[in-house]
Amino acid sequence: MEYEIVIWLEIHAKLNAVNKLFCQCINSQDFDHAEPNMHICPFCTAQPWALPVLSKEPVEKAILLWKALQCTIQEYSLFERKSYFYPDLPTWYQITQVAQPVCIDWSLAFFVDNDFSETKSVRIRDIHLENDTGKSIRDGKKVLLDFNRAGTPLVEIVTQPDFRSSQEVVAFLKELQRIIKLNNIGDAQLENGQMRADVNISIRPRGTKEFGTRVEMKNMNSYSAIERAIAHEVARQQDILAAWWTVDQETRRRNDAQKDSFCMRSKEEAMDYRYMPEPDLPPLHLPASYVDQVVEHHWWVSTSFERIVRYKNDYQFNKEYINGLIADSDLMLFFEQTVAAWKSYNEAAKWLVSSVARWLNAQQVWFSYCKLTVEDYCAFLDCIETGKISWPQAKLVIDEIIQTWRWPDAVIESLWFVAVTETDIKQRLDQLFQEKPDLLSDIQAWNMKPMWFIIGHVMKQSNGSANPAMIQEVIQRYKK
Ligand SMILES: [Zn+2]
Repeated sequence: MEYEIVIWLEIHAKLNAVNKLFCQCINSQDFDHAEPNMHICPFCTAQPWALPVLSKEPVEKAILLWKALQCTIQEYSLFERKSYFYPDLPTWYQITQVAQPVCIDWSLAFFVDNDFSETKSVRIRDIHLENDTGKSIRDGKKVLLDFNRAGTPLVEIVTQPDFRSSQEVVAFLKELQRIIKLNNIGDAQLENGQMRADVNISIRPRGTKEFGTRVEMKNMNSYSAIERAIAHEVARQQDILAAWWTVDQETRRRNDAQKDSFCMRSKEEAMDYRYMPEPDLPPLHLPASYVDQVVEHHWWVSTSFERIVRYKNDYQFNKEYINGLIADSDLMLFFEQTVAAWKSYNEAAKWLVSSVARWLNAQQVWFSYCKLTVEDYCAFLDCIETGKISWPQAKLVIDEIIQTWRWPDAVIESLWFVAVTETDIKQRLDQLFQEKPDLLSDIQAWNMKPMWFIIGHVMKQSNGSANPAMIQEVIQRYKK
């Protein structure tokens, strides 16, 4: 029997606000390298009588995300307590939004394939604010608790069961990650736990409408791990159904190293979260005027889907260019800023997806590591346009700028480029035409076929220092 895969996601994304959600403790995107239990207070360690006070910045970061995702923000939403016991959750409840979340019922469009030809839209059930738990670390027989992460702000995004393949799931998560990074809302790296996805998987005979029993997969920290986990779980459920057994509703933990998953909780053990309104917090009131005010101070909010459509349709970029730009959100953001300051988007993209991306790959670093500024990059593009440096020289210059973090002018000076004058070019052309008179007669007869051969020859002779546009101009003068 042929089965159809049905998947929905619950995604937690960490906001990069300065403070935690309900206290003034420092929030970091990377607590893994911080001294344990240094960023804590009576509230986030649940001392008696400590009360939550909603911080402004995490709410504003969440507003930016909601606006970027183009969903309608509910004017009033409520906070609730979700009670459960984890050693690293000192309050024994998490403050979340269930009955009345901030955003409900909208959809997000994205490209499924790397050719940017297939689009898909997934419905989102709700999106809300909540605080994170602390962290427990196993140390032999002991369990150590670090509360630095307790209370850090998260948005949870819950989708409808609209995914039909792991490719769609990964493409959606990548789009979401780009939106979060591009709008400076968070880092959203799965590998670092800044974005976490729980994947709910079921299968049903193709053509039927009723959903199969879902299994929730947890503990996946990369896109490839998610793909492997989905493939494994689908095969497991198919085997169960083929043997005429039934799939149990359960939560499973993936162990990627063992290429297997293990039951964490069955339906019988499902937790009763005993939701109740949070008595210490008033309803969250977000009037439209306040939302507009927050968005106004941000230079732009948008999805990367819109940008990809613009790159494809308006800029006519090929898939290599688009993939090069979207592979690193900081690089994409840099490109956007360059385009705002520089006239040719084609030229602006070219060096970023070739020389800069190649260097980043070789160094195994993200663009955020690179200290190239928009100002320097525009100055570099200017040097090419005004003919100060030739294309082969430009390659050397951009490599040197990225490696040494120096100004383009300083780099050009240090590379000692010998300026090749028109007289030099003419001398070289005269010599070439003497050796190969056929070429000269072609040019004289306005046959421009050998043009590129001649340009290449002079470039080679001048060790790449001559300006191709200048050579072309001098060649034109031989026409009769
Ligand atoms: Zn605190």
